[in-house]
Amino acid sequence: MTAPHPLSDPTTGTGIPQTVERMRRVFDGGTTRPYAWRRRQLEGLGRLLAEQRVALAEAIDADLRRGRFESAMFDVAPTAAEVRHAIKHLRGWMRPQRVPTPLAVQPGSSRVLREPLGVALIISPWNYPVHLALAPLVAALAAGNCAVLKPSELTPTVSAVLARLLPEYVEGVAVVEGGPDETMQLIDQGLDHVFFTGSPGVGRIVAAAAAQHLTPVTLELGGKSPAVVTRSSNLRVAARRILFGKLINSGQTCIAPDYVLVERSVRDEFLGHLDAVATEFTERRALPVLSAKHAERLSDLLAGADGQLLRGGPADADLLTMPFSVVVDPAADSALMSEEIFGPILPVVTVDDLDDAIARIRSGSRPLAAYLFTRDGRQRERFLARVSAGGVAVNHTVLHLQVPGLPFGGVGTSGTGSYHGRWGFEAFSHRKGVLRQTDRIDPPLLYPPYVGHKRRL
Ligand code: NAD
Repeated sequence: MTAPHPLSDPTTGTGIPQTVERMRRVFDGGTTRPYAWRRRQLEGLGRLLAEQRVALAEAIDADLRRGRFESAMFDVAPTAAEVRHAIKHLRGWMRPQRVPTPLAVQPGSSRVLREPLGVALIISPWNYPVHLALAPLVAALAAGNCAVLKPSELTPTVSAVLARLLPEYVEGVAVVEGGPDETMQLIDQGLDHVFFTGSPGVGRIVAAAAAQHLTPVTLELGGKSPAVVTRSSNLRVAARRILFGKLINSGQTCIAPDYVLVERSVRDEFLGHLDAVATEFTERRALPVLSAKHAERLSDLLAGADGQLLRGGPADADLLTMPFSVVVDPAADSALMSEEIFGPILPVVTVDDLDDAIARIRSGSRPLAAYLFTRDGRQRERFLARVSAGGVAVNHTVLHLQVPGLPFGGVGTSGTGSYHGRWGFEAFSHRKGVLRQTDRIDPPLLYPPYVGHKRRL
């Protein structure tokens, strides 16, 4: 383990303006631009994830009561994969891109240079407190930026561990701990990019504050991600894969299937599989939820659903747990069917056919993810053509997040911009167009007075 880099140590200099100023000085010094610096930071992040994986898993468990395996698999491993992918491709991403120069602008050559934006602010939520803080950081550092990270105040142990450990492994990164006030103060420093992951409601506040400084934003938000089960699917596999995505982190996942739309002709058979698989996966145990406030919100959603409760029941606000609950055909205007659930409740809604399912999805906000279970290629293409969503997985849930070549992000109210792999590098880069010409020849065609030209028109 190396000593903290003096310029990235959040303990020297107090206050948010000083912290930001320190990062600006690092960036303005120019050290973050070369390939070698970027690579060193990525390797540092890789070492942090490997050497501190136990400390990170313990911190996650302290904040979220989530087992080590889930933390390793869904928080630490995908972040380490991002690091490896970025290290492997960094040189290629940084290479200037030649583009054709039209005849009218000849003789000349044209290139696109990717340059870092400067000091980026990364604001992260509580549900994957390591991954959603460090995966954007991978992209910011790969693109040669400095960054200020603002983890969620709802995961204070992870936040403190990141604040302590990051400066030991990377330069050009400061961690500011805190909640909404600190977030707003940071945005008011007029940083060069804001990368926000969180709810659509707070996303609006963040985007409006950033707009005062014309700071560009990436917004990774949430919403209601549907899973459509058609009669031409393997119903048992569909049930397993929907529950796989729903039960990770007790359903507190931005791309968890929020609700299911199932064709009427196979509904009962599907519900049978769903119930059996739920018993198998949960072993009838209730699942942890974040806080009493979250537990009460989930109980209220369930109480107001006005559907048939297939299994489950209200959350326990003392134990902070909730049994996995399935509601069949809740009222369309219930809060359960209009708010993002973000917990272990799965509504299952009966539809006539795929077109009915598509119409229902299209009548709401565009989701962060959409899932389709079918073996029919024509159904798949119709779904892809008609449903706008941040990302889609066919015959699975959630796993598209783990493909580094795929952009990860929302559309409409589920987000603006994307990241992961090259897409993250692009999100934190400015594409600078450069035309180079010679001054050895200087044809008069371009210059005024355009007398001769006018006559020819
Ligand atoms: P949140 O929006 O409440 O908080 C996110 C961040 O914003 C935190 O760091 C918090 O301190 C800050 N914040 C909260 N209120 C604020 C305010 N009024 N002003 C300024 N800053 C404020 O989100 P959350 O509860 O931590 O996370 C859950 C939400 O995040 C869900 O909607 C989920 O879908 C979404 N999410 C999206 C993704 C994605 O990748 N698209 C990933 C995880 C979670």
